[in-house]
Amino acid sequence: MKYEKLLPRFLDYVKINTRSDEASTTTPTTQSQVGFAAKLADELRAIGVQNVHYLTSNGYVIGTIPANTDKTGIRKMGLISHMDTADFNADGVNPQVLENYDGGVIKLGTTEFTLDPAEFPNLKNYNGQTLIHTDGTTLLGADDKAGLAEIMTVADFLINGDGQKIPHGEIRIGFGPDEEIGIGADKFDVDDFDVDFAYTVDGGPLGELEYETFSAAGLVVNVQGKNVHPGTAKNIMVNALQVLIDFHNALPEFDRPEKTEGREGFFHLLKMDGAVEAAKSTYIIRDHDKEAFAARKQLVVDLAAKMNAELGEERITLDLKDQYYNMAEIIKKDMSIIELAKTAMENLGITPKIEPVRGGTDGSKISFMGIPTPNMFAGGENMHGRYEFVSLESMEQAVDTVLEMIKLNAN
Ligand SMILES: [Zn+2]
Repeated sequence: MKYEKLLPRFLDYVKINTRSDEASTTTPTTQSQVGFAAKLADELRAIGVQNVHYLTSNGYVIGTIPANTDKTGIRKMGLISHMDTADFNADGVNPQVLENYDGGVIKLGTTEFTLDPAEFPNLKNYNGQTLIHTDGTTLLGADDKAGLAEIMTVADFLINGDGQKIPHGEIRIGFGPDEEIGIGADKFDVDDFDVDFAYTVDGGPLGELEYETFSAAGLVVNVQGKNVHPGTAKNIMVNALQVLIDFHNALPEFDRPEKTEGREGFFHLLKMDGAVEAAKSTYIIRDHDKEAFAARKQLVVDLAAKMNAELGEERITLDLKDQYYNMAEIIKKDMSIIELAKTAMENLGITPKIEPVRGGTDGSKISFMGIPTPNMFAGGENMHGRYEFVSLESMEQAVDTVLEMIKLNAN
């Protein structure tokens, strides 16, 4: 095997439950991530990574692979992945290793669940490969423990393996918490990380390379109603629930996640609750295009104003907050880091797949903080549930790609 410790490392990481918790207010949101960070820090030190430290301010483990050449002007590169796993059972992850996959139906442990190529055509890309899948009771956590294992393997190879022969500049490693709940990068410390550019190794299948994300805002619509006896309500009652329904119906009918794709944006109603007297609804607003994103936010502001005017009182109040922005705005100023990743993949015979993400990444936030950070594949498929799997070959090729980028960057 090309990288002997890659698979054992991955299997070791996925068995540790590091699910993040949206309801928690600590950093990181779960104590298990603190323990996992300490373990990863120990491992980085054992490999010989320098200046390994844990930042209590944001839950990141940071380390440095020093340059091994006197050549000047090599830009400093960062490699980032996240330690937490998605909102799905992660207790007792029991990874199953299937060698030489024959293209058939895979039974997930002793459960009734299966990975069936009829349902998951992506399995057809993995004939003859070694697949790691779940036993059907948990997620796998390849998102993003594949990324962690790959970056750890890159570090090991550069410091202790044949990679010592690759002249390279300074490389910084960052393992962060709470990506899956969208807050992990909020406290990212760009001064401490101090690189010229970085990649999150957190993408899906082989070849994925992403630098366009949504721009994102969260919206809460609060309505104060007026409740009176329904028998004598005429021209007096203001039903907060009805106001919310009217508000929702005034939004563009087809701008919803289930009606859009590609670069089309949307208003997504997540939650409604309340009663006649008071009610609120929660939305997320998404668009790739900067102007269209601004127009969507203006639309809800104008709509609330118009409805308030009709109600004769300010009964609707909005809580509208930007969450992250399309990183393309930053990356497009200097496409060399996309070219670097593309060329690395092409040199290895991997076809780069560059598509806009209908979501965000840690890199969206980090890019706007000053470190351009596109996202590259880590190899996982069917993320965030029991059908998640990854092939060892894809993980090896992610390691190859990162090493090739490091090599190219020094030239
Ligand atoms: Zn991820």
